[in-house]
Amino acid sequence: MRKQIVAGNWKMNNDLAQTESLLTALKAQTKTSNAEVMVAPTYTNLFQAYQALKESDVEVIAQNMHFAENGAYTGEISASMLKSVGVKTVILGHSERREYFGETDAILAKKVDAALANDLRTIFCFGEVLADRKSGNHEAVVESQIKNALFHLEASPFKNIVLAYEPVWAIGTGETASPEQAQDMHAFIRKTLNDKYGADVANSVSILYGGSVKPNNAQEIFGKPDVDGGLIGGAALNADDFFAIVNAF
Ligand code: PEP
Repeated sequence: MRKQIVAGNWKMNNDLAQTESLLTALKAQTKTSNAEVMVAPTYTNLFQAYQALKESDVEVIAQNMHFAENGAYTGEISASMLKSVGVKTVILGHSERREYFGETDAILAKKVDAALANDLRTIFCFGEVLADRKSGNHEAVVESQIKNALFHLEASPFKNIVLAYEPVWAIGTGETASPEQAQDMHAFIRKTLNDKYGADVANSVSILYGGSVKPNNAQEIFGKPDVDGGLIGGAALNADDFFAIVNAF
């Protein structure tokens, strides 16, 4: 059985006081689905969030990390630093990291290796831009993103990898991939895994969809057979909306 997961990416939102009130609102929610639930606050609030949620159903995860263990990388955060504040899962390869911070497939391959070496579960994000979708190139783009960052791995590390397909044209735009577009791409991703690693890996890796998932569309998207959950941006900043999505399973 693949894990169902709903992860909220708070991005660069919420100062300490705002984080406190969102944490309080999250603790008041009730989970009625079997989905694993995660939220990714900004670095400065990770420890506080971990302390607040450690007895709850909600795991606190990180939005990013550097590939080096430590050293002269001003402004960066390492895997062991994340672990030291209770983090066990990290998002890597978000399209905003790729677009605004120059993260290439080669850099992401190093980050994935560093996360796995530190026993951090990785939510690895990828997805095509609108021009690729319009030109029909979307599968080739996604395939190359996955191959370049992950296919140097053996099969066994995939038990610590979750994939998140996030078409860039659907992130924060209010435009969602249709449930059929999501399903088609997720099936393609699973086939790509199957071709390289076989059915055991392909059928056990959770593949999340991300891109304007809201309470009113989550159920239909999550109802597709190859969609195992969602990576949620905007709607994760409101506890009621976020849990409506969590409970959409
Ligand atoms: C995201 O940033 O990963 C995301 C899916 O954002 P949104 O839900 O706001 O589109």
